[in-house]
Amino acid sequence: MSEQKVAIVTGASRGIGFAVAESLAKAGYHLAICATREATVNASADKLRTLGVEVLPVVVDVTDGDAVKAFVQDTVKHFGRLDVLVNNAGITKDGLAMRMKAEDWQAVIDTNLSSVFYASQAVLKPMMKARAGRIINISSVVASMGNPGQLNYCASKGGIDAMTRSLAQEVGSRGITVNAIAPGFIATAMTDELGEDAKKSLETRIPLGRLGLTEDIAASVVFLAGDGGSYITGQVLHVNGGMYM
Ligand code: NAP
Repeated sequence: MSEQKVAIVTGASRGIGFAVAESLAKAGYHLAICATREATVNASADKLRTLGVEVLPVVVDVTDGDAVKAFVQDTVKHFGRLDVLVNNAGITKDGLAMRMKAEDWQAVIDTNLSSVFYASQAVLKPMMKARAGRIINISSVVASMGNPGQLNYCASKGGIDAMTRSLAQEVGSRGITVNAIAPGFIATAMTDELGEDAKKSLETRIPLGRLGLTEDIAASVVFLAGDGGSYITGQVLHVNGGMYM
């Protein structure tokens, strides 16, 4: 069994997920990471290995419950332990309610919400056995605020917040904490789609006057995963520069 702690990060090939994996690696965690594209997940693993940790890169579509289960089982088999699960993989398929296609509704719910159920359920066995574990779900500020044109995305993230509180109550007695982090607008490929004008107008609504950095979210994950997070469970930690209070 690895003496170093082990974390799974889903959707770690770029953006917030990669920054989370990088910060966990710097904090000494071995990693199992996944995304749907082999080339990028392998390239990310190579970068993470330069930080001196062991990395297991796997191609997994998180909408596939069986594949997610196998990924978790392979991670435990490979490292002999599992300490942290970060449910980060997520997508947007925006559109106004009147015109939203059912397939765009379903894709976002499957990728952002059902995936969190699949992965969380799969880690419970090893974490319960160890009587320790941290589950950290990446939600969004829009779960609390709402956002026109993102009804599917807001529903998926609101579902994550509710699932976080329910699971935290189920597994607290087993030494497992379950929390969510709700980023505001963070500069990644996802927000690049917004365009410069929309980003400028957003910045005027953020008291700290800037979009967040992926590192801002990664730092909160490392905090919740570490000793400082021991007595925190069932919470949604808002990391948004003050845009929602
Ligand atoms: P991103 O840059 O688009 O990265 C998304 C990651 O998820 C990629 O690694 C992607 O890799 C992976 N992914 C997508 N679909 C997947 C699937 N079906 N199975 C496995 N992996 C999948 O997004 P981001 O901005 O970093 O967002 C990360 C998380 O933060 C998401 O949950 C998002 O909702 C949340 N968030 C972001 C912001 C923001 O402002 N950026 C704000 C609030 C919340 P592949 O494409 O190779 O699969």
